[in-house]
Amino acid sequence: GGGGGGVGKLERILVSVRLRPLSDKEIARGDPSEWECINDTTIISRSTFPDRPSAPTAYSFDRVFRSDCDTNEVYKQGAKEVALSVVSGINSSIFAYGQTSSGKTYTMTGITEYTVADIYDYIGKHEERAFVLKFSAIEIYNEVVRDLLSAENTPLRLWDDAEKGTYVENLTEVVLRNWNHLKELISVCEAQRKTGETYLNENSSRSHQILKLNFVDLAGSERASQALSAGARLKEGCHINRSLLTLGTVIRKLSKVRNGHIPYRDSKLTRILQPSLGGNARTAIICTMSPARSHMEQSRNTLLFASCAK
Ligand code: ADP
Ligand code: MG
Repeated sequence: GGGGGGVGKLERILVSVRLRPLSDKEIARGDPSEWECINDTTIISRSTFPDRPSAPTAYSFDRVFRSDCDTNEVYKQGAKEVALSVVSGINSSIFAYGQTSSGKTYTMTGITEYTVADIYDYIGKHEERAFVLKFSAIEIYNEVVRDLLSAENTPLRLWDDAEKGTYVENLTEVVLRNWNHLKELISVCEAQRKTGETYLNENSSRSHQILKLNFVDLAGSERASQALSAGARLKEGCHINRSLLTLGTVIRKLSKVRNGHIPYRDSKLTRILQPSLGGNARTAIICTMSPARSHMEQSRNTLLFASCAK
């Protein structure tokens, strides 16, 4: 193929920002809305940062979504093309990045459902192709991997295989029967999770190749910035954050350099996602934010992360 130059017009990392509505709590305490999407690609802060007068107040991305935008719109503009590339043999990942309570789970759950509905739609229209959809779900907490579909809470090990690459040992895989079955499985996972990473594998029996579509609901991003500011204060804290920090480094390097060392092996999340991040793979990142002024500093960190991913 065209190697690194073959990426062409399809940008491999699609970055968008989603503003959620002010919550009842934020409204009740009179917390004003600080951010505004002025068009489809640019978000601005209404006031400047007093401590950083020179900081930019306008940020541009592939897409920005106003707080009154529904998840179907976010899916169509910010994830669909990347997610559905899996049916043409391209591994892909959709991430939700943002501070706790900014809307990551809300966004990822909706996007997962819309994607699977579209994949079933595609399958219905392509009866010449045989598909098996398998669902599995893990969470990574403190660099410990757990199976969200198993009642046993035993940590799972990662293995490296010459053919399969890195895989999770003894991970439950459920063959999806239909879209409603997916909703059942998502509820099982929600009941089990602390922080969650959701995986959907599509196994095309025609090519005997296992393609991976990953839906990744990341840990709250405030943990990464806290870890950075507090240094190596708590070893436990470092473990919680290692996957998030390494993912940030990997994504920054993938978006900037064509060659050179990408530190996939520095965390479990990036080891597991490696086949879906590098090479012939596509990625969409949806950065979620609260519009509230009280969250301004965290929201700004989220926008800086999103800018680095571009
Ligand atoms: P996170 O996973 O980032 O911690 P959640 O997805 O749990 O955040 O969202 C926090 C709360 O805000 C939830 O009650 C959720 O239903 C609500 N919420 C998040 N995004 C939206 C949105 N775009 N529209 C309406 N409610 C939202
Ligand atoms: Mg969540």
